[in-house]
Amino acid sequence: MRNTKNSHSWPFRRLGVWLLLLFCGACSPPQDALDTIREEGVLRVLTRNGPTTYYESQGNPSGFEYHLVKDFADYLNVELEMIPVVSLDELFENLHEGRANLAAAGLSITPERSAALQFGPSYMSVKQLFIYNRTLTDKPADYAALPDLRIRVLGNSSHAEVLRELREQYPSLTWSESRDQETIDLLEQLQQGEIDITMVDANEFHANRAFYPDFRIAMSAGKPGKLAWALSKNADNTALQQALETFFEEIKANGELDRLIDRFFTFNERQSFIRTQTFLKMKEQRLPSYKGLIEQVAIEYDMDWRFLAAISYQESFWNPKAKSPTGVRGMMMLTRPTAKELGVDNRLDPLQSLRGGARYYKKLYTRLPSGIEPPDRSWFALAAYNIGLGHLEDARILTEKSGGNPNLWSDVKETLPLLRQRKWYKQTRYGYARGDEPVRYVENIRRYYSLLTWDELNRYRVPPPRIVSDYLPSGLNRGLEAL
Ligand code: GLU
Repeated sequence: MRNTKNSHSWPFRRLGVWLLLLFCGACSPPQDALDTIREEGVLRVLTRNGPTTYYESQGNPSGFEYHLVKDFADYLNVELEMIPVVSLDELFENLHEGRANLAAAGLSITPERSAALQFGPSYMSVKQLFIYNRTLTDKPADYAALPDLRIRVLGNSSHAEVLRELREQYPSLTWSESRDQETIDLLEQLQQGEIDITMVDANEFHANRAFYPDFRIAMSAGKPGKLAWALSKNADNTALQQALETFFEEIKANGELDRLIDRFFTFNERQSFIRTQTFLKMKEQRLPSYKGLIEQVAIEYDMDWRFLAAISYQESFWNPKAKSPTGVRGMMMLTRPTAKELGVDNRLDPLQSLRGGARYYKKLYTRLPSGIEPPDRSWFALAAYNIGLGHLEDARILTEKSGGNPNLWSDVKETLPLLRQRKWYKQTRYGYARGDEPVRYVENIRRYYSLLTWDELNRYRVPPPRIVSDYLPSGLNRGLEAL
């Protein structure tokens, strides 16, 4: 009986399959972007090359947007392909033409953009600032001062949109928009006195501020911009959008987003401003005499020369004759026993000192526990350079005891300063240490390293051709035509 029943049902099942195939073939919906990403195993992302978005650091891709999208690609379990472009114009054009799945480039959600594009969840709020050069202009007191100034902003930017809104209130407001250019070009034009005022996002201003000490904030404009990734409306992004929502919920809840914001955008402005100015002065005055040596040693030890330069600046301000009361000496401030161990017989010889320091750093880097991944591994190696592996290990154990992750620099740097307090250091193997020092040490070197990286990024980029278009109020336009 059972067999008969089965043989009867068989053709019907088969028919069902055919019907299903026919049905699906006739109405196959456009494939969701997420399916394509999963099938191809690649997430394609448009971005801008700059200090707040995407750049190279110690030979690896870095930048806030890079790390954020990398996390997303890992979440989807696919590879990441970054497509850097040179301007917002190029970014939107490429997105529209479907060359990437999304754009991650410090983009603000605006009313005009929302009509044409789809946005993922916002990950950060930034003020939009009017910036002027104090050597050229008096501080513009309010928006009413703007019509008298030569204003230029990036074409296609949220800032241009703010100005269009402001024009409703101040009809005589005029400005120009630079096409195919980047924020750094605008800042250069402000520095050269070609324009009186420009607009940039607060995070970009702070990232570049060190290079332009005369720039000041005049005022902020409109509401803070909400930054988000942009998706084209031409593709079916329903499932991709859903994945974005879940991903952002997750990284907001587990603290990853805050960690990235802290890592890239939290600058101790007031405190570091003077230090930064001195650094940039020394970079011009002292670094050129030692840059060749630093580069040579960096190649020998397979390091990024800018990183070695940042360490040696922190150690001695690039002074090969530096001495400290505690007996450390030379460009890399080696102690006598360490120098001996590293085969350095003359600590005041800059080449020997750099080689000794690089070797010591590399040694510490390799000896760290295997669970510490780059880039944190570099920060741990630096901390060990400053305080020794023993105290660092103590701090890692304390971190774990208090529920933190001993392999994350952001967690261990919270615990290190506790090594000064009896309550904590009595629980450790190596005891008391001035644990706040390695934290400052690492923070300084990272800052110097970023400054060198960003400076190069700005200096050596090939700017696109300059195109600037003027935006005059319509009344004035008519007036000109009438002439
Ligand atoms: N947030 C700006 C925008 O969406 C870009 C960043 C900037 O230029 O400061 O247009």
